[in-house]
Amino acid sequence: MKKERILITGAAGFLGSHLCDRFIKDGYSVIGMDNLITGDLRNIEHLFKLEDFEFSHNDVSKFVHIPGDLKYILHFASPASPIDYLKIPIQTLKVGSLGTHNLLGLAHVKKARILVASTSEVYGDPTVHPQTEDYWGNVNPVGPRGVYDEAKRFQEAITMAYHTYHGVETRIVRIFNTYGPRMRLNDGRVLPAFMGQALRGEDLTIFGDGSQTRSFCYVDDLVEGIVRLLKSDCADPVNIGNPMEITIAQFAEEIIKLTGTDQKIIFQPLPTDDPKQRQPNISKAKEILNWEPKYTREEGLKITWDYFRSLPKERLYEEAHHRNFNS
Ligand code: UDP
Repeated sequence: MKKERILITGAAGFLGSHLCDRFIKDGYSVIGMDNLITGDLRNIEHLFKLEDFEFSHNDVSKFVHIPGDLKYILHFASPASPIDYLKIPIQTLKVGSLGTHNLLGLAHVKKARILVASTSEVYGDPTVHPQTEDYWGNVNPVGPRGVYDEAKRFQEAITMAYHTYHGVETRIVRIFNTYGPRMRLNDGRVLPAFMGQALRGEDLTIFGDGSQTRSFCYVDDLVEGIVRLLKSDCADPVNIGNPMEITIAQFAEEIIKLTGTDQKIIFQPLPTDDPKQRQPNISKAKEILNWEPKYTREEGLKITWDYFRSLPKERLYEEAHHRNFNS
């Protein structure tokens, strides 16, 4: 029997590569697409030898063409860390807006179901806590995070418009902070920052006083939630994340304990518009997807630390790359 085909954009990224693995394992034929601005082929090189995997080096913001049938589209292409938005703001805006538009058009002609990766950033610096899906957010459109936050908000709007106007089968996942193997070591996110610092023997940098909170979800839990949402009949946005909330200062202590580093903590200025608190309310995912996270932070952090520890030494010193700067 011919396998069902799925297009995954952002395939060489952290989440995209884990989704490729999962859908290959579940018996699909996967087309992984990436323009490699922030993605890394090392995340998917193990898939290249498989018959059921095909890589397409393409920028979805410009044009997307896929010959043949498609059952599903997962749109996970986007820079996703504050350092990236600062370096490539225009591409960040374009992939969430023009890229999403192109993929919705593709879903329409292929009669494919499309799931787009949205984010807790649509809630901005939230005044409602924990965040439920019916909270509309508190976003600064012209701040440094605005290019990401507003692109994702536009993405949700155009996705819903294709659903209501064209009848396209759409799904929207709002992803909260997620971690695991294959995060980019130098993308500025807090977990790879701390683990990279521990490995290089540098002090751990806390931004602000460390009282801001986040809630960290292990990647396999997130992937399971996404698969369930894709197969559900819910077109409204659904939060997927782990509600266990901690301060960044506590998180630093956990990393120090886990890694055994004898470095100290140093404090640096808090970036502009850094959200003070974040915790998903996952009642909706529990109810309609029968989903909740399974990994404790202790388990997930151990797996992630083992991954970073196993990387060749020279990777610890690689600069964050942003290929192809033309916007
Ligand atoms: N952070 C930190 N030290 C670092 C990197 C990040 O204290 O070296 C903080 C950052 O200011 C934020 C939190 O950790 O409050 C999570 O940052 P991240 O970029 O991972 O995610 P986001 O802010 O997008 O949730």
